[in-house]
Amino acid sequence: MNPVIGLEVHVELKTKSKMFCGCSADYFGKKPNTHTCPVCLGLPGSLPVPNKTAIEWCVMLGMTLNCDIPQFSKFDRKNYFYPDLPKGYQISQYDEPFCLKGSIKLDSGKTIGITRVHMEEDTGKLIHESVGGEDVTLIDFNRSGVPLVEIVTDPDFDNVKDVIDYLKKLQQITRYLDISNADMEKGDMRLEPNVSISTDGKIPNYKVEVKNINSFKFVEKSINYEIRRQASLIKENEKPIQETRGWNEAKQKTVSQRVKEESSDYRYFPEPDIPPIKWSQKKINEIRSFIPELADEKVKRFTKAYALSNYDGLLLTKEKSLADYFEETIKQIKLIKNDEIKPTPKQVANYIINKGTDPEQTTIYQLIHSIQSSLVLSSIPDKELKDIIKKVLKDYPKITEDYKKGKKSVIQFAIGQVMYIIRKKIDIEILRKLIIEELN
Ligand code: ZN
Ligand code: MN
Repeated sequence: MNPVIGLEVHVELKTKSKMFCGCSADYFGKKPNTHTCPVCLGLPGSLPVPNKTAIEWCVMLGMTLNCDIPQFSKFDRKNYFYPDLPKGYQISQYDEPFCLKGSIKLDSGKTIGITRVHMEEDTGKLIHESVGGEDVTLIDFNRSGVPLVEIVTDPDFDNVKDVIDYLKKLQQITRYLDISNADMEKGDMRLEPNVSISTDGKIPNYKVEVKNINSFKFVEKSINYEIRRQASLIKENEKPIQETRGWNEAKQKTVSQRVKEESSDYRYFPEPDIPPIKWSQKKINEIRSFIPELADEKVKRFTKAYALSNYDGLLLTKEKSLADYFEETIKQIKLIKNDEIKPTPKQVANYIINKGTDPEQTTIYQLIHSIQSSLVLSSIPDKELKDIIKKVLKDYPKITEDYKKGKKSVIQFAIGQVMYIIRKKIDIEILRKLIIEELN
C-alpha cells in the first residue's frame, strides 16, 4: 500500500488592484464591503478587465517552476452556486491555462511534476456571527475578485515530509518573486491535498480532497489522518470513495463534506467578455527577464563568493530580507578604515546565524559593531584581560574606594582606562561585568 498525494495550492497575489476591476486588493483587516464595485459584486452588465500585472506574475511563477508557456491562453467560466460567489461563476482557466508541465526539485532529491499553473479570482468571505442573538451569515465582498494563482501538482508525493518541503519552497519562491506574502495563517496561501492509496503501484481511480487547511501543522495532521483512515478501510476490503472532506481540528480528524463533483459539473465554457491571450516571444522573454535571483542560485553564489558552507548558505537565504541584510553588511564592511577590525563574510555569517539576528531589530551599523566587539573579546585571552583590569584597579585605588562607597559611576572611568590600554573596540557591557566581578 502506497500513499498517492497531489496538491492544489491557491496563492493570493499582492497586486495593488483586483483581478478584473480597479478595486484595491489590499483587503486584509479592512472594513467589510468597502473594497467593492459593480464588477467584483457581480452586478449584471459590468465588464471584467484583466489585471496585466497579475497575469505577468502568474506566468513568471510558472517559469520559475519550469513550466511551458503556451502561446495561446484564455479565461473560462467555472459555474457553480455559492453565496460568496455573486456572479454564479468564477472566472478561471480550464483547458488552456497560462503555464503547463513544469517541475520542482525537493531537498530529498525527488522531482515533483507541476501539472499546471493558472490564473483565477478569489471569492468573497462568509462570516458566521451572532447578530441580536440570532445566528447569521454575513458576506464580505472585499476579497471577491482578488487575483489568485492556482498551482496543481501531479500526484507525485508519497509522504507528508515532501509535501511540507514543497509548500515551503513554493512559499519561498513567491516571496522572492515578491508576488505574494504567502502567509498561510492569513489565507494568502491555501491548499487542498488529494489523497488516495495505491494497492497495485498504479494511480487509484478515486481521490479524497481535503479542505480547510490553514497551517503547516494541519497539512501534516490531515494527510496523515487520511492515509491511516483509507489504509484501514482497504485492510477491511472496503474501497474509499471519491469525496471532499474537511479537516476538523477539534475532533482531530477529517469529516466528509460532499461527494466530489466532476469537472463536467462546472459546465466550463470560454469567458465571452475577455478576449483570448496571445503571447509574443518578445513578451515572454521580457517576463523571464523580470525573474530575480532565487534562493537556490543565491546559495550557490554565497558559498562561492563568500566561502560559506552550503548549510550557512541555506540559512542565510531562507528569507530574501536576511540574504539582502547579509550582503549589505559585507558591502559596508568593505568601507571600514584599514586600522579597524574588518570581520570576514564567514564571521558575519556565523554571528548572524548563531545570534539569530533579526534585520528589523538590528541596524547594519549595530551589527558590525557587535561583531567587531565580539572579535576583540575573543582575541584577548581571558587571563590577559583580567590582568589589565587588576592593573587598572591597582593604579587607581580610588576606583575601589568610591565603588565601595556606592559611587557606581566610577565604573565608567575604569572602563575608559581598560579601553585605553587595549586600544581596541570592545563589548562595553561584558567589560563592565568583568570589572564589577573584580571589584567584588
Ligand atoms: Zn471591484
Ligand atoms: Mn481554484
